[in-house]
Amino acid sequence: MNSTYLLTPIDYLKGIGPNRAKLLKEELSIYTYSDLLHFFPNRYIDRTKYYKINELQRNDAEVQIVGKITHFKTIDQGKTKRLVASFTDNTGSLELVWFKGIKWIRESLKLNTAYVIFGKINWFNGQFSMPHPDLKSLEEQKKSLSGLMQPIYPSTEKLSKRGVSNKIISKAIENLIKLSYKQFSETLPDYFLKELNLMPKAKALLYIHFPKNAELLAKAKYRLKFEELFYVQLQLILKNKIRKQKIKGYNFTKVGRFFKEFYGQHLPFTLTHAQKRVVREIRNDMGTGAQMNRLLQGDVGSGKTMVAFLSCLLALDNDFQACIMAPTEILATQHHQGLLELCAPMNIELDLLTGSTKLRDRKRIHEGLESGELKILIGTHALLEDKVVFKNLGLAIIDEQHRFGVAQRAKLWTKNQLPPHILVMTATPIPRTLAMSLYGDLDISVIDELPPGRKPITTVHHYDSNRLKVFHFLRKEIKKGRQVYIVYPLIQESEHMDYKDLMDGYESIARDFPMPEYQISVVHGQMKPADKEFEMNRFVKGETQIMVATTVIEVGVNVPNASVMVIESAERFGLSQLHQLRGRVGRGAEQSFCILITGQKLSNDSKTRLEAMTQTNDGFKLSEVDLKLRGPGDLMGTQQSGILQMKIADIVQDQDILQQARQWAKKIIEKDARLELTEHTRVKNTYLNITKNKKNWKYIS
Ligand code: ADP
Ligand code: MG
Repeated sequence: MNSTYLLTPIDYLKGIGPNRAKLLKEELSIYTYSDLLHFFPNRYIDRTKYYKINELQRNDAEVQIVGKITHFKTIDQGKTKRLVASFTDNTGSLELVWFKGIKWIRESLKLNTAYVIFGKINWFNGQFSMPHPDLKSLEEQKKSLSGLMQPIYPSTEKLSKRGVSNKIISKAIENLIKLSYKQFSETLPDYFLKELNLMPKAKALLYIHFPKNAELLAKAKYRLKFEELFYVQLQLILKNKIRKQKIKGYNFTKVGRFFKEFYGQHLPFTLTHAQKRVVREIRNDMGTGAQMNRLLQGDVGSGKTMVAFLSCLLALDNDFQACIMAPTEILATQHHQGLLELCAPMNIELDLLTGSTKLRDRKRIHEGLESGELKILIGTHALLEDKVVFKNLGLAIIDEQHRFGVAQRAKLWTKNQLPPHILVMTATPIPRTLAMSLYGDLDISVIDELPPGRKPITTVHHYDSNRLKVFHFLRKEIKKGRQVYIVYPLIQESEHMDYKDLMDGYESIARDFPMPEYQISVVHGQMKPADKEFEMNRFVKGETQIMVATTVIEVGVNVPNASVMVIESAERFGLSQLHQLRGRVGRGAEQSFCILITGQKLSNDSKTRLEAMTQTNDGFKLSEVDLKLRGPGDLMGTQQSGILQMKIADIVQDQDILQQARQWAKKIIEKDARLELTEHTRVKNTYLNITKNKKNWKYIS
């Protein structure tokens, strides 16, 4: 829509005026005519059906009736006044009642005029009544666009309080459409409309607000969703193209000594096919001369760490340094220990930097980084401190990206002349098509295979009241020599309460699992890192059989002998969190179990989550369920992307349209990358308009 007329501020629109305009701006970000036109109803009320009064049922339904007012009077009962009108069609009569705006309504009522009333009916004292009916003369109703399906717009508390009702908004949009229908210009090429059988833009705008029937509404919706998704995809594809052309990166030409030696002599297991494929993808990507920007998706336990390590070796082979950033101290420490073992036979300098690294060690690390002797640095957010300067960082690996903001990630770039290659690893997989559309400028690798010999984890749900039975089961497992996690929720806002929950839980567990037969570790957020590590280590070494913890163990820890994961108050966890936690077990050869304990009262969403958990171990399936429950807004990193702030399309529900839109966006770029053909003028203009108006269209990298 590029007509300047439609950029007129809404203040000038009939029925709006400066006060309402101000509210609409503040509450709904509606500034211009065009904004208002693109403010879509979220549902419609069917106004095609008319009732006769003698058909009415005593069920509070909303009904529409044609009839006349025969008489009316104001009833004054001291404090309360009401206006009552008798309304009749030729089958019976009912009362219309008003408690507010009496004076004004009384003056506007006309006897013996055909009216259409709409509203909820009450049955009281042997008679039907309708309080505050929506009242229009039949003549007015016939002329109105909303006479068939009445649009209901999203609103806010403030808007309804200040009297900016649905009626006012709907009327304003109706005025606007009547006034400016001719100005609605097409935004897609004609051949799109033809080949895809899409409704023209102007019609789609008319029918999305005022549909004549469900079929036209569906076509209008389809058209508008397609358009929205098409332009998002176009932006992603163009951005990706530009990035590939412009952002130079280090060219890792060699596979050298480190990689070859490790791969040939020290690999502790055979890589899965998926791991091999992904390593190849990464290697190719780092050898093109452009910067790699890659997302590595792989379910919990799929072996991402080995892929990360092999990628680091490639950096080293090309005389660059590498770093791995993890979201928690415990995880960083574990990575460090794991990689120390892998590196041991090869004489590679690596170190660990976290918030609790001592000053002396820091100094050593800083020097090693600047001289280039320190080859691999593992750490937490601490890696992003200004003092951390690499001599030549060639590869930055970020584990569990959803813990990091985009801005932080970008900071990594500034440490070199050229940006390092970036590999983001996540165990919160999302469906591939969705990922491609969300992160159009990231390349994606997927490890879709678990190492051989893993037994699927058995997951069950128990209510609180069954705890003793669960404890009994735990004792049996511990007797077999296994270890057990018991996890309590952690909610940032009330760390204190969580701590109390945890400690209460701990005490009751300590009673049921008494020393010296049982040894228990406790780890929680309020402990000093050194103490946490001490407790973790006791568990890792097998000195304790039970680990009681808040979700600090959520990501990454690897204790293959632990075979039972008990999650307390499981209804308070999100699905991806539950799945992550479950991924802590099932790492050894033994049958593993995940036990979800909840209270009796569960919301529908909680039930769906628990059911999904007990039915599948597949992280991709779970993330689809999660997407359906939560919508995509909560997906990692997407809040910042701005890309999901869509007006009508839903990236989950509308995946089919999304794929179609992506195909057509690709097609158009293949055919006419600079959008220079006349048939693409509309696309170019619309695209420029969208990108110009979007202030923060920076996302991921
Ligand atoms: P995640 O993808 O969750 O980070 P990890 O990298 O921690 O998974 O790997 C989980 C476990 O599987 C580790 O103990 C690791 O040593 C082991 N592992 C990884 N790849 C293989 C493989 N190809 N064969 C056997 N075990 C593997
Ligand atoms: Mg991991």
